[in-house]
Amino acid sequence: MSATETATWIEDIVAETVLVDTHEHLVEESRRFSPVFDRLLPCDDWSLLFRDYLQQDLDCAGMGAEEKRQFYNPEVSAVDKFRIVYPYWERVQHTGYAKTFSITIQKLYGVKSFAIEHIEQLSSQYREVKKPGFYEHVLRDVCRISECHVNSLERIFMQTAQPSLLKQDISIMELSRCNLADIKNVESELSVQIGSFDDWLAAIDRYFEKCGPQAVAIKYVGAYYRALNFRHVDRHVAEQYFSTLIAVRPFIGHEGAQALEDYLFHYCLRKAQEYRLPVKLHTGYLATNDSMPLSRVRENAVDVCRLLHAYPDIRFVLMHMGYPYQDEYVALCKQYSNAYVDLCWAWIINPVACVRFLTEFLVSVPANKILTFGGDFIVAENVVGHSVIARRGIAESISALVDRRWIDRGALPELVTRLMKLNAEELFPKATAA
Ligand SMILES: [Zn+2]
Repeated sequence: MSATETATWIEDIVAETVLVDTHEHLVEESRRFSPVFDRLLPCDDWSLLFRDYLQQDLDCAGMGAEEKRQFYNPEVSAVDKFRIVYPYWERVQHTGYAKTFSITIQKLYGVKSFAIEHIEQLSSQYREVKKPGFYEHVLRDVCRISECHVNSLERIFMQTAQPSLLKQDISIMELSRCNLADIKNVESELSVQIGSFDDWLAAIDRYFEKCGPQAVAIKYVGAYYRALNFRHVDRHVAEQYFSTLIAVRPFIGHEGAQALEDYLFHYCLRKAQEYRLPVKLHTGYLATNDSMPLSRVRENAVDVCRLLHAYPDIRFVLMHMGYPYQDEYVALCKQYSNAYVDLCWAWIINPVACVRFLTEFLVSVPANKILTFGGDFIVAENVVGHSVIARRGIAESISALVDRRWIDRGALPELVTRLMKLNAEELFPKATAA
């Protein structure tokens, strides 16, 4: 077989293999038919596909706030939306985020390219595809995904109408951050009154009792606003800050908020351990614009290292390969048997770095320590483009290793299945058992 024939053979195997998708923020399908627009779903036309994450590249390329408002305004026509976005599209079209969009509209809608002459087709195909039942069609038929893990942005744990397709994480950020809004939210979700620290801990227990048996994992996204350096805080200290928070003044200062969260984070980890739930941690790059404290992000691997050491019985999933500090994550996964890396979102943040990472990972770390796909989207259609980029990247990494005679052809089908499916099934046994 020539190198080109081998590459095509590998691409075919990867294309045929079913993927387990270990990270999405998909809203419930029924929400996509709601006439109410909000922060998560500002409109209901093709511009919605730009919302995560392509908009960040548009912002970075110079799109203004007013243009952005008009672009997502449900009242603005498709042609006007195109005119607003096109000058910026030209600048961003070669990034992973933009490629996701281009591939999605080609594969899902048959739209050749993002051009004015195709706008009508794009508008009508968006509506044509978005019909009741479209999650099954998009995710299972088009993307060949067996199931998605969803970290809901609307509920601490989403009771989904599609439990075999959309497995759910328990989001512990709201439980450990514990500000007044979080307390109010928990009171309303559980229909309880929170008057003391004991009440708050009982509420956490309640989430685990109620949702733990159905959940696939717990998810913590606090790296967006703090370091992952959770100290051991005495219970009475945490309790004091909590009492001050609810009874005296809502602002307990940075020190107080951090100490309270440190205590509660460890509390949630112990619950995860009790319920044998893997712990997914956001690490690395932030999905924001003009506000990423890189010195803190750089420390994520160092901070996580302490957790890996302190909780040997918990399996930690380090998300997004800690980009741009991915080398440290190869070392962590090689060293610690309880460390796993997840390439969710990473394929489109920097597709070339992600191929390089997977290639290096496979020659350094046991192959069961990596999860290879998560779209990280609110809008399901975008999973199409991202999954194509991920499949291409997986095939490219493996082809490089076969070319270098590092991996035998005979070992390939099994390795591909392990990377795309089996690792997730082994790490999250409840997902497949349900
Ligand atoms: Zn995410």
